[in-house]
Amino acid sequence: MTKYHMDPEEYRLRGHEIVDWVADYLANVTEYPVNSTVEPGAIRDALPAAAPEQPEPFEDVVDDLNRIIMPGITHWQSPNWFSYFPANSSGPALLGEMVAAGLGVQGMLWSTSPAATELEMVVVDWMVELLGLPPSWKTTGPGGGVIQMSASDSAHVAMVTAREQAKQRGAVDKMVVYASDQTHSSVEKGARVAGFETVRIIPTDDTYAMDVAAFAAQVAADQADGLVPLFVAASVGTTATTAVDPVRTIAEVAKAADIWVHVDAAYAGTAMICPEFRHHQDGIDLVDSYTLNPHKWMFTNFDCNLYYVADRQPLIDAMSILPPYLRNEATLSGKVIDYRDWHVPLGRRFRSLKLWFVLRHYGAEGIRHHIREHILLAQDLASRLEADERFELVAPHPFSLVVFRHVGGNEETTKLAADLNGSGKVSVSPTTLGDMAAIRISIGQTNTDAEHIDGLWTLIDNLSR
Ligand code: PLP
Repeated sequence: MTKYHMDPEEYRLRGHEIVDWVADYLANVTEYPVNSTVEPGAIRDALPAAAPEQPEPFEDVVDDLNRIIMPGITHWQSPNWFSYFPANSSGPALLGEMVAAGLGVQGMLWSTSPAATELEMVVVDWMVELLGLPPSWKTTGPGGGVIQMSASDSAHVAMVTAREQAKQRGAVDKMVVYASDQTHSSVEKGARVAGFETVRIIPTDDTYAMDVAAFAAQVAADQADGLVPLFVAASVGTTATTAVDPVRTIAEVAKAADIWVHVDAAYAGTAMICPEFRHHQDGIDLVDSYTLNPHKWMFTNFDCNLYYVADRQPLIDAMSILPPYLRNEATLSGKVIDYRDWHVPLGRRFRSLKLWFVLRHYGAEGIRHHIREHILLAQDLASRLEADERFELVAPHPFSLVVFRHVGGNEETTKLAADLNGSGKVSVSPTTLGDMAAIRISIGQTNTDAEHIDGLWTLIDNLSR
């Protein structure tokens, strides 16, 4: 019988070639312009409009990868990547990903691959300890963690869970979500997904942290108007400036009004592996849910998002449906976790493998070492900017993000960001805070070192003359 498959021996051969390809790419990544410079449509136009009818040689695929795809790549793995937040990665993560793809298991139920579920339980429990989260959030307690695709997914699931829980109390409409004017847009999107009509945007103080008095006043006003305050998002590390909302006081106000508290620590949560930063999550023991992305700063390639709940029952109640084709002895025994009940999708990848590879390769000590290094580099850059009269820091920099502007004003700042990006040597994010243009420098790519910060500083200095 004709077979078109790649047999294991050919896979071995091609696999070695592709591992070499990736290793060469990572070794030489600084040789590419960091931001792709292709025009819209260029990659698409270079590719055939229809899929091949006949099989093609693997060499041709790799040739086209090099010739057509690579010019359209933006190099997130460059140590000169300072844009957005990083989506960093590492050798052990890539290898774990490869094993997960090779095993190709679909871990929707414990019974569809017990190790996929149990390894996930182990690593999410390990992370509770490593990040100083409440011990009751371990899967051995009433809470628990799960690996989802993204922080956005976690926010959306948290809102659906809060809504379903509130319905049991009789609240079915007029439900209100609260977020600060710095909260990530995923919360507003989640409110739409979960069917909340009202999102109250709470102002922030001069450090861009939520004004808790304004939050409390808004809750009281909404209650007086017959609305149902239901969900608040507190950020530990906002996207624009890594501002930290006062989790404890927000949670105290929220608990008194039966409001679900969700903490978004998508980026900065990784810093909590270093005990000296844990004061930023003071009050975490009072919250209902929490999210953090190892796929941003913890050397684990996208996607790998941790989502924790203080009590897993409302989550499972909101998400679980058991059709006949998913019934099995283990599920019915009640002795296992079926992670399909912890998020929207049924199917799920074996994401815990790559996180397990990373945790074992680096050890907590190795991760702490590199996180501290990134933070020190950011503090160093901040000091240089602060000491130079041409620049001004526009926000506190508690972690590894530095946000600054040119004192000349918005035009100069925007031009500097465009020149930095246009140089091909670095990638930075232009942003605005209110009416003020600013430049975000996020330092967290796996291989970013002092030499890259020196290079960035020289560029900023030269382009500002
Ligand atoms: N929350 C914060 C604070 C973020 O900075 C981001 C993305 O940068 C997100 C949520 C969304 O993350 P994800 O892409 O995992 O949905």
